Amino acid sequence: MLETSTKMKQGLSLLNLETVKGLMTLCSLMVLLTVMAGCDSISTQNPPALIKTLIVDGQNNHDWTKTTPVIKEMMEACGCFTVDVSTCPAKGQDMSGYRPDFNAYDLVVVNDGYGADSWPRETEIAFEKFVSDGGGVVIYHAADNAWPQWQAYNEMIAIGGWGGRNEKSGPYLYMDTDGNIIRDTSKGKGGGHGRQVEFEITIRDKNHPITKGMPATFMYCPDEMYAFLRGPALNVTILATAHSDKNNGGTGHEEPMLMTITYGKGHIFHTVLGHAVQQIRKDCFRIPFLRGAQWAATQKVTIEIPEGFPVEKDQD
Ligand code: ZN
Repeated sequence: MLETSTKMKQGLSLLNLETVKGLMTLCSLMVLLTVMAGCDSISTQNPPALIKTLIVDGQNNHDWTKTTPVIKEMMEACGCFTVDVSTCPAKGQDMSGYRPDFNAYDLVVVNDGYGADSWPRETEIAFEKFVSDGGGVVIYHAADNAWPQWQAYNEMIAIGGWGGRNEKSGPYLYMDTDGNIIRDTSKGKGGGHGRQVEFEITIRDKNHPITKGMPATFMYCPDEMYAFLRGPALNVTILATAHSDKNNGGTGHEEPMLMTITYGKGHIFHTVLGHAVQQIRKDCFRIPFLRGAQWAATQKVTIEIPEGFPVEKDQD
């Protein structure tokens, strides 16, 4: 009896121990599931539905054949975007049938650039309607060189360069050293940059979803620093600037590096950065670009700024 009772007690103790272990495992699993539910990927928190993105390219004095695949890869890798590419006919070829279906997308990234042939007017109108109805756009580097004669496009980019842009295109837009916005109607060329050097970027709007949480200033990798950009400069917010050095072909002003623009109900993110693959693979370019792209499509940003940004772990 005693023996039986002891065995029973031992059995109950074992059962209790197993029950406790089981409950602990269940708790751990629930905690893990809770954590997983709140973190769909390493770099984002509760991202919305995937943003349907179209990169348009095909004519650019920059090597779009190399940059487009890297942009597509980094957008898809962050877990917030699906990306298709629409490549227009080569320069001088028949453009009349070029009709990307903008309305099938939430976001268009422009990787056409300097000297690009005009789209057919019907395609321009479709793009204008896509944006004014609420579509998102990313203007990437030399995209602000494209299509100087297309008025609506100039309003979307706010400021641009080259292609004959001058005082007739609109004022130079920059900041003085105190951060005051200057619209300068002086006569002169639109567009210029010095040799590629490292430079400091200053965040001018710390509360914008794109820049919120970034260091107030940070060093940016060697790249072309655009300057002398001018255009309609309407409905534009300057998020970040860099000092354009007169000793390196610059203006002596604080030049816009990251901007947002509204056009109708549409939202545009304009980065003048990212001359080539060596720049766009770096976090100092990639993180503002991805956050800007997400904002242009959704006006929300969930893509996180990595700890230590913009100093990144060596990915090569
Ligand atoms: Zn460039």
